[in-house]
Amino acid sequence: MQIRKPSRITLRQLVLILSIGSVLTMLVAGIAGAYRIQRDQLMEDTLAANQAFAEKLAASTSDLLSQAQQDLAYSAERIVQSGMNPAMLQSEVERLRAQGTGFNAVSITGSQGVILAIAPAALNVRGRRVDRSDPRSALRHQTPMISSPFTSILGNLSILISHPLYTAKDQYLGYLAGTVYLKSDGGLSRLIGRHYFRNDTYVYVVDATHRLLYHPQANRIGTEVNYDNPAINAVLQGRSGALRITNSQGIDMLAGFAYVPSTQWGIVVQRPTQVTLARLDALMHRALWLSLIPVGLLLALLWFLASWVSRPLGELALVVQDGYEDNMARRIQSIRCWYFEAQRLQRALLESLGAVGAQLDQLHDEAYQDPLTGLGNRRGLNLALQTFQTLEQPFAVITLDIDFFKHINDTYGHDTGDQVIRQIGQWMRNQAREGDTLFRMGGEEFLTILPGARQDIAANMAERLRAGIEQATILPGETVTVSIGVASWTPEDAADTTQVLKAADQALYRAKQTGRNRVVQSDDLIGMPET
Ligand code: GH3
Ligand code: MG
Ligand code: MG
Repeated sequence: MQIRKPSRITLRQLVLILSIGSVLTMLVAGIAGAYRIQRDQLMEDTLAANQAFAEKLAASTSDLLSQAQQDLAYSAERIVQSGMNPAMLQSEVERLRAQGTGFNAVSITGSQGVILAIAPAALNVRGRRVDRSDPRSALRHQTPMISSPFTSILGNLSILISHPLYTAKDQYLGYLAGTVYLKSDGGLSRLIGRHYFRNDTYVYVVDATHRLLYHPQANRIGTEVNYDNPAINAVLQGRSGALRITNSQGIDMLAGFAYVPSTQWGIVVQRPTQVTLARLDALMHRALWLSLIPVGLLLALLWFLASWVSRPLGELALVVQDGYEDNMARRIQSIRCWYFEAQRLQRALLESLGAVGAQLDQLHDEAYQDPLTGLGNRRGLNLALQTFQTLEQPFAVITLDIDFFKHINDTYGHDTGDQVIRQIGQWMRNQAREGDTLFRMGGEEFLTILPGARQDIAANMAERLRAGIEQATILPGETVTVSIGVASWTPEDAADTTQVLKAADQALYRAKQTGRNRVVQSDDLIGMPET
């Protein structure tokens, strides 16, 4: 039989590792799964909300601009009907500006590019000429229009919403224009800036030339935006939608965007992904901390359970390990085996113990007994050895031979010799512990099996026996001595139990050789040359 190396891991550790492993795996998998689902949902919701907001702003912007254009058209008609009366021009621009359309300034420019009226009058640019070469100039177009951002003659970054002045005979007289300053509080920034979003959400507006019309960082207004931004590219192609993008500063953003068809502007509403997920992360951390309490309780429970499961098996193993002894069955029965496998093992142990007990009981039969001493005979010894091997029970043996026995026989006669043999047998009985089994091997040789005893313990007992016999008056006028060999066997020896007899014999032989009346352990012969 191949003997495996003894395992260091216990059943309790195994149960603990398995259960703690599965609890932690489930916890991590559960939280990771919940986190993923929540994160995807949150990002989807944010994208949809940003898109909805961008669309709402686009619609409002469209309305605002068309309202402004209607106001300008109505005023233009009044101005033309008045015959371009200078007083009327000034009062009309004042009225229009005061109307609250969001214009920072309202002006009338004649067909030659000279400013004829302006509100507020304090701007003091009447009579000045606008730059006709300006590509954004309404003069070139002579149609209602909304300009790209440009720097006005007063140095304000502005857009111009203008309406041409035509007589009934289609004579072009100039244009009426409302100016919206992009960097100060005009209609556009009021419309968009009013919708202040919490949590780092912000809005910007780009025109068809990729220039920023509105941005919360005022210094960026009028500058060109990144051509690589997929949200801007999509919105300037006339699309509305939502995208996860990386902005010009390399920040991961959730962007919703909408197109304003009347001006070909794009409105983008975005929020850093990090900000969106930060609350979820905090939530997940809390969930993790809160779950530590039930998980801790569960682990403690598992620890108890693991101990509870392994205890009966551990106790059964301990009884078996302690070796065969008289109260072994009682000890096995007293172990509380509360589940099926442990109960089966307990029953099997008791059954095999019963078989062993029955076998050892046979030793009392005549066939296994030596008639002279009442001890076991050689057949009995073989039966006992087999039993210990089957049980895998370690044991030690003491083998004893009377010194110079021929001399006793020769001097005192065979009957006296028999007497001596019987007395030595009695000495051995008196020295034996409960559970030890004694045999006469034939002639004047004896053997004791000591279950579960270590060789050095057996050697101590043997020494007491030897000394006792030496001191005793077994035969008046003679000192009777014995030589003793001690050996031992464990299941790990992987050798047949009969080997232990050979080892004991060798030790006994050595005791004889080295002067008799002594004890020799087979362990002490290791490494010595055989004789
Ligand atoms: P040693 O110290 O070497 O053991 O010397 P020994 O004289 O004891 O030698 P050995 O053990 O070989 O001698 C055993 C003797 O015991 C030989 C035999 O005549 C005798 N004998 C064997 N069986 C019996 C028995 O049943 N009764 C008696 N009285 N003598 C026996
Ligand atoms: Mg002898
Ligand atoms: Mg002999």
